[in-house]
Amino acid sequence: MDELRYRVDLLNAMNQRLTNDEKMYRLICDTSSNAFLYVNFIENEVRTLANWDFFFPDIEIRYIKDMAKLYSQVEDKYVLPLRDLLFLEKTEMNAGSGIIKLKDGRTWVECESAILYDEEGNATDKVIRFKDISKFKNQNDELTYMAYYDILTGLYNRNYFVRLLADFVRNAEEQNAVVAVMFVDIDDFRKINDGLGIIVGDEVVQQLGQFLSGFQGEHVLVSHFNADIYCIAIYEPTGNRSVGSVYKSIHERIKKPFLLSTGQELTLTVSVGVAEYPEAAKTTLELINCAEIVMFKAKKQGKDSIQYFDAPILNEFLQNISIENKLKEAVFSQNFVMNFQPQYYVKDKKLRGMEALIRWRDNDGRMISPAVFIPIAEKNGTIVPIGTWVLEESIKTFSEWKKKFDYSFILSLNISAIQYMRDEFVDNILGIIKKYNVNPRELELEITESVLIENFKEMTEKMCILRDYGIRISLDDFGTGYSSLSYLKGLPIDTLKVDKSFIDTTIADENTRIITESIIFMAKRLGFETVAEGVESNEQYNYLKDIGCDCIQGYLLGKPMSKEDCEQLLMKQV
Ligand code: C2E
Ligand code: CA
Ligand code: CA
Repeated sequence: MDELRYRVDLLNAMNQRLTNDEKMYRLICDTSSNAFLYVNFIENEVRTLANWDFFFPDIEIRYIKDMAKLYSQVEDKYVLPLRDLLFLEKTEMNAGSGIIKLKDGRTWVECESAILYDEEGNATDKVIRFKDISKFKNQNDELTYMAYYDILTGLYNRNYFVRLLADFVRNAEEQNAVVAVMFVDIDDFRKINDGLGIIVGDEVVQQLGQFLSGFQGEHVLVSHFNADIYCIAIYEPTGNRSVGSVYKSIHERIKKPFLLSTGQELTLTVSVGVAEYPEAAKTTLELINCAEIVMFKAKKQGKDSIQYFDAPILNEFLQNISIENKLKEAVFSQNFVMNFQPQYYVKDKKLRGMEALIRWRDNDGRMISPAVFIPIAEKNGTIVPIGTWVLEESIKTFSEWKKKFDYSFILSLNISAIQYMRDEFVDNILGIIKKYNVNPRELELEITESVLIENFKEMTEKMCILRDYGIRISLDDFGTGYSSLSYLKGLPIDTLKVDKSFIDTTIADENTRIITESIIFMAKRLGFETVAEGVESNEQYNYLKDIGCDCIQGYLLGKPMSKEDCEQLLMKQV
């Protein structure tokens, strides 16, 4: 009896334990966002648990044969993987996992199974867990998309384009084919962005991108590089995918207005640079670089055009690179000298001043014109040490002359915008003036008009500070930039230098004469002194005298000369 009592107690205890376990499992199931499918092979029984209805609402599964109902719930291409997962053979069954997509087109499900076996190795029980991973999967897809495509236009992004272009180049190498790279840049895009706002700017980029995507194909890659720049690569550019034909289509499209969501209509122009493998370059990045270089050339030559990277451009480019390298050495070894060109008053031909002009003889003994190397120095930054050297060297020479010759005249110095914009510029020049003890009223800084316009506020503020110290400011090359007389009013300048291009044509061209006369007249009214540059003939001199120009500079009265030759000249003046 005791024995029976003991067994009943034991059974009760076990039952209690079982109910507790079941409660625990039920709780776990209820709070799980997953769904479970439990298969009991022995009893041929199937149970669906936890969040089943979320994944498969209305699908009731009670027996093993019902499980086939699930095939209709997934996208076609996932039926086979799902069947593998549900795999119902009792032997050689393996646990596994996989990802399927439901018919709703949105829901991604990760399935994972676990199996119990009997002593003979037959499966007795199996559990399959279904987990919703849509959020992760969609994010992942987006990341994958962003790795290859540009969000704004849907075109290839720069990185992926470069990879695909590398494939083109590799194939072209094997097959002796040509690959053309077209660098397409919208003209005056900044004006669109600044004037109409970046949303409109984006819209324009998107619409043009959409049009360009029409060229995309097996042999044509279209990408959005950034901002307003697209790059197109064409494998074997012939027929309707020749560069000329693609350019023509683009040109025709952009002449027609783009309709914006603001209701505005906008037409565009683009500048296009083209470089071809193998003629222009042999590697992917060089090809893109060359196409970009000629795109800038197209911009410089008035925009709305196409430029090809050809032999003369390649030579110019190589020459610039060699100048660039030599320039860095020259800065180090200070391989420069200063020349000075006299300026004279028109009325009595007395010396007004000297303009300091830099000269560079490279290591091979060649003279390289400042018109060539100054722009390169401005680009690579060497203009800063060069500019400082020019200031120091010229002002030092000037102070020596002032000690030797009792003659009042002006030293004019060309200042590059890069140099002028630097914070330390004013302190720098004041320091040199102090060091050589020269009179700031006898120093004149020449600044070009185009530079002034680009950074108007900052430039004029600095000009005012310099003028407060007595330094003169001269507007160089006047007439080559915006040529607007109206903005001259109120400019903090003392002198206006009429560009040589006017003087060159005054005699022959009546229109130029009219403009030159207006410039001189206006400048006088505004109280500026006028200097005509590049005066080569007596005829020009007489004409300038007639129209009331104050000073002249040019080969007629004096070429740029060495420091020693200048001293001879100064000797005569005294
Ligand atoms: P720029 O300031 O307009 O200088 C005048 C240029 O015209 C000089 O050329 C001068 O030699 C030349 N020239 C003067 N009179 C005549 C003439 O009657 N006929 C002809 N055909 N040419 C004449 P250069 O010395 O080759 O200088 C070219 C430009 O390089 C200068 O133009 C200036 O913008 C820049 N530059 C020269 N030296 C410096 C410098 O030290 N610093 C900076 N930042 N730029 C400089
Ligand atoms: Ca000058
Ligand atoms: Ca000039």
